Amino acid sequence: MAGELHPVIDTRGRGMRDMRISVTDRCNFRCVYCMPKEVFGRDFAFMDRAEILTFEEITRLARIGVAHGVRKIRLTGGEPLLRKGLEALVAELAALRTPTGESIDIALTTNGSALAVKAQALYDAGLKRVTVSLDSLDDATFRAMNDVNFPVAKVLHGIEVAQQVGLGPIKINVVVKRGLNEQDIVPLAQHFHGTGFVVRFIEFMDVGTTNGWRMDDVVPSAEVVERINAVLPIEPVPSEYVGEVAARWRYVDGGGEIGVISSVTAPFCGTCTRVRISTEGKLYTCLFADHGHDLRGLMRGGATDAELEAAMASIWRARDDRYSEIRSSLTEQLRRSGHHVEMSYIGG
Ligand code: SAM
Ligand code: SF4
Ligand code: SF4
Repeated sequence: MAGELHPVIDTRGRGMRDMRISVTDRCNFRCVYCMPKEVFGRDFAFMDRAEILTFEEITRLARIGVAHGVRKIRLTGGEPLLRKGLEALVAELAALRTPTGESIDIALTTNGSALAVKAQALYDAGLKRVTVSLDSLDDATFRAMNDVNFPVAKVLHGIEVAQQVGLGPIKINVVVKRGLNEQDIVPLAQHFHGTGFVVRFIEFMDVGTTNGWRMDDVVPSAEVVERINAVLPIEPVPSEYVGEVAARWRYVDGGGEIGVISSVTAPFCGTCTRVRISTEGKLYTCLFADHGHDLRGLMRGGATDAELEAAMASIWRARDDRYSEIRSSLTEQLRRSGHHVEMSYIGG
């Protein structure tokens, strides 16, 4: 019975600590590095309502994850705020307890477009933290990157409202792509310096098969640090816990922190404790896995909690993933031949 299980450990000694749940495969943005319009155009077939997990099914999987060791749940997508009534799901997840009675850390990653409207309801439902993706402060660059002409001012307003209602600490995710928004690194750092917001610069990754990734497009985190340090001196901060993906740096003048996520140049597979649930209920043990395990089929086929628990545990125990560590040893052809899932489908 859920609640009395022991944490499960994979073949590399990693527990299942963080659960990322994609609540929709749809998005109102077409970020060029994630859902390029050429692929996710008008004719693209998104999932039918009947295919996607219900809130009840999501909560059931989350409860079993918690019994197996999950302590953090992040809602993502697609754009999670497009899922109708998301606050009802947040409320159900916020009510979950660990076997020793502690609450779970519930967070959300969003493009911020609907945050001004949704922030209060989400906070009231028990959401603690939000991470907002914001790739540029320059309106023209921002509109070009989201590729739907969405103005940056609206996202900045959403962030402001989120802060006012008490969602925090707020993190800002910036995917840096060479030639596209590298000129925005320093202005973003300067804008949020001294505000308590933590900006995290993420290396552009080769997720999925549609974003045309090339190593030349990656701005290494070391370069991000160098550029910021030249204007606002920073020093490294020791990481707080095992599995923390962002390397932390603090401003020498006390103006707060930034983070860099070096998924490409300094992979962190050794401490990767993330389990991912796709929109239609497949469990992925890696962002780069070429297939998921169909938990929705089990649930809709009438599996008992004990059967679901056993299935989740055995998938995790067999886990051996470390794609980012071996990426550089793969030939271009091998890398491209993998049927990687898309980021918008599995969540970040
Ligand atoms: N729509 C929401 C958003 O944009 O925050 C949540 C889903 S999005 C897939 C989650 C995160 O993945 C975002 O911060 C996004 O910038 C990041 N992301 C998407 N494609 C990426 C890529 N190719 N490389 C690195 N990060 C990526
Ligand atoms: Fe949508 Fe987020 Fe992907 Fe941008 S990064 S296309 S906002 S899912
Ligand atoms: Fe985790 Fe896979 Fe990313 Fe490595 S490549 S850090 S195993 S999700």
